[in-house]
Amino acid sequence: MDTVSKKLSQFLEQRSADQVVLDAVDYAICNGIVMRTRLKPTSSDVVQHAPFTLLPSPVPKNLYEQAISVQKDFNFLMHAISQDPEFMKSAFSTIIHSDDFTRRLFEIYETALLEKPKKTAMAIIRSDYMFNKTDESEPSLKQIEVNMIASSFGGIGTEKTRSLHGYTLRHAGFEDVATSLPQNKALQNLAQSIVNAWDLYGDNSAVVVFVITEIENNIFDQRALEFRICEIQPDIVVKRYTLTQISELGDHDDDGNMVINDQKVGFVYYRAGYSPDHYHSEKEWDARLLLDTSTAINCPCVAHQLVGAKKMQQILSQPNMVERFIKDRNSVKRIRDTFVGFYGLEMGSAGDESIQKVLQHPENYVLKPQLEGGGNNLYNDEMVAKLKEVGEDDRRCSYIVMEKIRPMTVQSIIVRSEAGYDIPTPVEGVSELGIYGYIIVKGDQILHNSIAGHLLRTKSSHHNDGGVASGVAVLDSPMLY
Ligand code: ADP
Ligand code: MG
Repeated sequence: MDTVSKKLSQFLEQRSADQVVLDAVDYAICNGIVMRTRLKPTSSDVVQHAPFTLLPSPVPKNLYEQAISVQKDFNFLMHAISQDPEFMKSAFSTIIHSDDFTRRLFEIYETALLEKPKKTAMAIIRSDYMFNKTDESEPSLKQIEVNMIASSFGGIGTEKTRSLHGYTLRHAGFEDVATSLPQNKALQNLAQSIVNAWDLYGDNSAVVVFVITEIENNIFDQRALEFRICEIQPDIVVKRYTLTQISELGDHDDDGNMVINDQKVGFVYYRAGYSPDHYHSEKEWDARLLLDTSTAINCPCVAHQLVGAKKMQQILSQPNMVERFIKDRNSVKRIRDTFVGFYGLEMGSAGDESIQKVLQHPENYVLKPQLEGGGNNLYNDEMVAKLKEVGEDDRRCSYIVMEKIRPMTVQSIIVRSEAGYDIPTPVEGVSELGIYGYIIVKGDQILHNSIAGHLLRTKSSHHNDGGVASGVAVLDSPMLY
């Protein structure tokens, strides 16, 4: 760690540092680490590079390895939960009364379960962690969340960002540090996993559909995956549709196959559908139901999407919950070691006590609704105000409280388009490591359970919430020590 910091300070003292920034920006643009701009989010005629750290950030090697070693356990666990309708029902019973979005998803889950119980499905799973450091002790790996739908940045934030950092390090004269960047084949592995699932569908004429939103700022992250899929298997045609378009152009044929625009669909990959904002009317819900009850392989199916709910994290943290699904004690321990404390806010005395505890020390907690995509969590005063607003009635059931992680800090130089490229100044940053995995399943059978690669995102430590797409975090890669 010392040598890494020393090298960073040396680097900053170099008069050529600003030139390294300009070179890194060109490298990013040239290699497609790009996004659409805020001013023209629906068009690719003007693009900018995605924000990134100039240098990779130090990550304790043992924690990186720990995150890798628990990924298949989480992959397995997520699927096992989705196969237990009784557990699913009781887990979501309190939320579906107060959270309309979760209730609609749950209804589709129940219909799909009835109509297609043994369907083939795939999930791309990304488990995110921070490196908790409370005192003088060594940092520990603590899970932020498990993403079951639309995990982004596998396209531009993995292999490409690693090679950007390799270039920058070599260019700045730190060839030896470049060797401490772990391999990252996430883009290739995720593309290959989709090709494998499409193969399983077994119809060469069937297309792959990416479900997208109307405005896709982060389109190149999706395109990178699409183009890699087509490089691996040129027979695959990828089509991009919104849920609205699918409801207008799609239907089941007589055999229950999904057909959109006269093309049979073999595989559906969702980069939309995780937010209430993506369902403007009944049409989009109809489309979701059609997709989930067709023969097409969904990634994720609605059951897998639901188990990624933050409520599920809180339930799993309770005694004997992980143990219900996993008998191997080592696997349970690997999973539980990454948990922090959670509280449910069900009506009744236990929920009341949780609220009191949080109100006494709001600085130690985060309040989370059942939403994805960044910017939804509440901290400090906002959390207190929300708890006071919803605390008396069953609206509180749709939130969970999570203990706040105190991540170790790193020195980061953030390179952001539109900010100008002055002499780089380091800021105090905190990093979040995501490990990508995927499963391909048929009913309760798991056909594939694999690790695909990793993602590191770093944000300035004064921000509470994260997210690259929401403009807070930036792309990074781990430099192991
Ligand atoms: P989302 O589904 O919106 O991505 P997350 O649970 O990942 O929701 O939270 C968003 C961000 O908030 C994370 O990337 C992290 O920076 C921060 N965050 C979430 N939970 C915690 C926590 N328990 N302690 C500290 N920071 C957290
Ligand atoms: Mg997240």
